[in-house]
Amino acid sequence: MQSDVIIAGAGPAGLSAAATIARAGRTVTVLEQNHEIGSPIRTSGGSFIDEMDALGIPRRLYHPISRVRFLSPKEAATFDYPQPKFCILDVRGTFQYLAERAIVEGAQIRLSAHAANPITEDGIVRGVRTNAEELRSKLVIDATGYRSTLLKQAGLDPGFRRFGVGSEYDLFAPHCDQSEAVLLVGGTVAPSGYAWVCPWGRGRVRVGVGVVHPDSRENPEDYLDALVANADRFGVNLKGAQPVEHHTGLIPSERFVDRFAGDGILGIGDAVGNASSLLGEGIRWAIHAGRMAGEVAARALAKGDVSRAALEPFERQWRKRFGSDLRLAHEINVRISKWDDDKWDRRTKLLKLLSPDQFAEALKTNLRGRWLWRFAASHSRELAAGWR
Ligand SMILES: Cc1cc2nc3c(=O)[nH]c(=O)nc-3n(C[C@H](O)[C@H](O)[C@H](O)COP(=O)(O)OP(=O)(O)OC[C@H]3O[C@@H](n4cnc5c(N)ncnc54)[C@H](O)[C@@H]3O)c2cc1C
Repeated sequence: MQSDVIIAGAGPAGLSAAATIARAGRTVTVLEQNHEIGSPIRTSGGSFIDEMDALGIPRRLYHPISRVRFLSPKEAATFDYPQPKFCILDVRGTFQYLAERAIVEGAQIRLSAHAANPITEDGIVRGVRTNAEELRSKLVIDATGYRSTLLKQAGLDPGFRRFGVGSEYDLFAPHCDQSEAVLLVGGTVAPSGYAWVCPWGRGRVRVGVGVVHPDSRENPEDYLDALVANADRFGVNLKGAQPVEHHTGLIPSERFVDRFAGDGILGIGDAVGNASSLLGEGIRWAIHAGRMAGEVAARALAKGDVSRAALEPFERQWRKRFGSDLRLAHEINVRISKWDDDKWDRRTKLLKLLSPDQFAEALKTNLRGRWLWRFAASHSRELAAGWR
């Protein structure tokens, strides 16, 4: 027996689960296929300061944003935050911080270790085969991200068919405004998706394009160079900027799956679609999922029962706490990915009615809060006229 739990994937989900389970006194081994935690980077690191604080991410690991501009082809909505609400993470630093927390709690981390397939006996998962060996455990957690490598082979195929596909440069851009993030929509910048400009401190800025496949068949790479070349048209100063890193990545753009667990196996994070598909934002959701699943797993291990029935409370708790917002986020994403330029312009006019706080709540996937009812009540006439 390698350890009580083997976790495949050292992203935010896997590392958060590892810390929680190890803190409960269980032995945990995390397998990461890459040779470094958080590398290569496959995310832009956009998040929310209050959420990062609540999750215990130190302030040195994120860069505060005090203005967000939302640009459609002919319209612009600008939101100012004297007290910043948004932030851009030092992604590698944050993921490695989560690894350090897991190590402090006693988790073992193995780098350059690819989890190839689950060891299954009588339909129950009993461990993992890596490129080099067979590792046995009482419970296996699939935190491999959008590939869901182990869940699929264990017969729990999440069946993702729709993905956000992103491509981004991390530039050193000495003249770019470090206090402002820009989101851009429309067919010429990002068909069926959006583009972004996200500064993260010390002159660094992530500029990227994401499109949703198969809603669009376009390659985001084709739009990225055009965005960088035309940045000044969008009020973004990339004079003298050069890329330091080039990132690409995929995220399931679907509602979370129905089943997170099987006998002896649990899926967390992007592997089961825990992210919000509103903007393709998943880091904090992955941390929540890892911690919630970690607690369920620790209780199941304490009882000596890792059957699907014992692990299923994770699904229930997730649905209860986040289900409605995440389902709605997905429905909205499916709709907006079909909007043409004209519709985006009309919707951006409506976005201008939101206060900066309301805009932040909407992006945060807080889609059923009181703020929405208040907003709808105070702008009913404009909404009725503009929502056509
Ligand atoms: C282009 C793009 C931009 C994004 N921007 C944002 C953003 O601004 N803000 C935000 O919050 N979210 C963003 N996301 C989403 C976010 O990155 C993910 O939702 C989040 O990282 C999911 O965490 P995870 O731990 O589930 O999976 P991942 O972060 O994908 O981690 C999975 C880990 O498993 C490892 N692995 C995979 N297969 C194996 C295997 N077989 N064996 C061993 N290891 C394996 C991988 O190397 C990786 O380290 C973005 C995603 C993309 C693609």
